[in-house]
Amino acid sequence: MELNAQGRPVEEVLEDLNAKRSRDVPWRDGKVFAMVFDGGPSVHEVAERAAALYLHENALNTHAFPSLGEIQSEVVGWTSALLHGGDTAAGFMTSGGTESILCAVLAARTRAETERGITAPEMVLPISAHAAFHKAAEMFKIEVRVAPVHEDFTADVDAMAALITSNTVLVVGSAPQYPQGVIDPIGEIAALAVEVGASCHVDACMGGFVLPFAEMNGAHVPPWDFRVPGVTTISADIHKLGYAPKGASVVLHRTKELRRHQTFTFDGWLGGMYATPNMQGSRSGVPMAAAWAVMQHLGIDGYRSLTATTLEAAAQMRAGIRAIDGLRILGDSQFHLLAMAADPEANLQIPIFALGDALARRGWFHGRQYPPDSLHATVSAGTAAMMDHYLEDLAAAVHEVSGSADSGTAGAYATIE
Ligand SMILES: *Cc1c(COP(=O)(O)O)cnc(C)c1O
Repeated sequence: MELNAQGRPVEEVLEDLNAKRSRDVPWRDGKVFAMVFDGGPSVHEVAERAAALYLHENALNTHAFPSLGEIQSEVVGWTSALLHGGDTAAGFMTSGGTESILCAVLAARTRAETERGITAPEMVLPISAHAAFHKAAEMFKIEVRVAPVHEDFTADVDAMAALITSNTVLVVGSAPQYPQGVIDPIGEIAALAVEVGASCHVDACMGGFVLPFAEMNGAHVPPWDFRVPGVTTISADIHKLGYAPKGASVVLHRTKELRRHQTFTFDGWLGGMYATPNMQGSRSGVPMAAAWAVMQHLGIDGYRSLTATTLEAAAQMRAGIRAIDGLRILGDSQFHLLAMAADPEANLQIPIFALGDALARRGWFHGRQYPPDSLHATVSAGTAAMMDHYLEDLAAAVHEVSGSADSGTAGAYATIE
């Protein structure tokens, strides 16, 4: 495989790219419950025009591009206000939830080393915590101690407590966790961290741009943000239900002093002072500007309205699934995430991944996960309008696969090539 020796005309190159795209999931149809979250035509427009403005810009040096410094500081400030960070919280934009989590975990380790002299760091997670924490642990050489969850899939705080030692640098809870969409008891988790002087991260990658607006709309939201004492860092992805295109998340620290443990500064090579806030060096202005533009375009009332639509659709989806003999919802998720599984007590067993295949043949894309085997949905504004249609197709797909010997395949949450 070699790069073409001669360059090719613009039109021809773009035609090829468009041809490649034909097999990608058609998320614009509103039938994809993962990966792309569609805020609608005007959100696309503002993001695309902002992205075009910043296509070539680099946030590596905000003295050269002060606008990107401002964009970051405004996006972080608005997010902090939504998450009740008060006058003290400070943070940075990152490329996504994984990078926000990497930054928070590294900061917790560095803080513990600095303040408590810990050289054999450990972190305590419920098994529902995102895989990115394990990635961080491997990269930063931290021992992971994993606690089980309760039958309702919320973190088992007693089990977590039993895993805390004087080497614990970080305790983690999620609001909500990804697999079943339930919110961990953040107050109790943060209290565990406080007891040993460890950091407490709340993974609100999914909830960060849903829970504040659900609360404003009058929903009961258990305490999860900086109003909970002991929470030191929060991750919130703008590129999930903040409806920005990919590459935008916020990591917040309760104070600027805590934030210092995340940054890197180096003045000992031949290229001059090097200081970065996150894992990146050169840093595209595209996702930063697009996220800024989407947030400005939607405003609080826009988010409240998208959240209302989304949560209504998620409730309709859960009710529709529960009404089908042989299917159940795992846990008692209340917001935009859900997992559906076969009901082990049903007469006729539904092979859940074969059901995923039957839905995929009808154009619907679910995440597939285990244990237990289940189909995952992230409901968003883009899928909300399709819910009647989805439930009709679900009934037909259940009929098609019930009692079938074909068990389907589990697929993957994330892949390498
Ligand atoms: C999506 C997600 C992450 C990881 O974020 P990426 O943007 O995919 O890197 C972490 N935690 C939760 C709860 C998530 O939903």
